Amino acid sequence: MNIQLDQVNQKAVWVAHSLFNRNKVSGSSANLSFRCDGKIYITASGTCFGILKDSDFAVMDLEGNPLTDLRPSKEFPIHLSLYRKSADIGAVIHTHSTYSVLWSFYPAENECDCVPEYTPYLKMKVGSVGLIPYEKPGTKELFQVFEDRLQLSDAFLLKQHGPIVCGKNIMDAFFGLEELEESCRIAWEQRS
Ligand SMILES: [Zn+2]
Repeated sequence: MNIQLDQVNQKAVWVAHSLFNRNKVSGSSANLSFRCDGKIYITASGTCFGILKDSDFAVMDLEGNPLTDLRPSKEFPIHLSLYRKSADIGAVIHTHSTYSVLWSFYPAENECDCVPEYTPYLKMKVGSVGLIPYEKPGTKELFQVFEDRLQLSDAFLLKQHGPIVCGKNIMDAFFGLEELEESCRIAWEQRS
């Protein structure tokens, strides 16, 4: 394993453990990925963030062709859509974090930017947050509706499902996900 890959891999594992240990994810419901040397490393299907290991990543190219035997998370097409959107995107995190899910039920005034700015930090760290209409997880219908709205926002709430946040690296994506979850919590508590 090269040094750069080893360092990113260790940070990704730390992020997974940190999210799990603070109840931001539970069970095997979350997935994350990062880009290194043109390859995509994504948590394997059924992995649990609480006990994630550096060997729990499936590897694929940008077209989704597998480069290892491990089966990737079934949400991998959403990750690939984001990596193809911009070469500046180096990591993607998807969870089912509670307040982000709660806020996804709330009627959106603007589906391209559905989380209100009660603090300046969401715009600074994440940008706009699009609301993706509900489709069953892991289906081509969900991947298509996500692809259709990919260019309209910076991060996304999958309705009745959870947040998708990307960043230039894994820590950047992690900070963005944390900010989105806290912003949704504030919005939920302030709702009228
Ligand atoms: Zn999911």
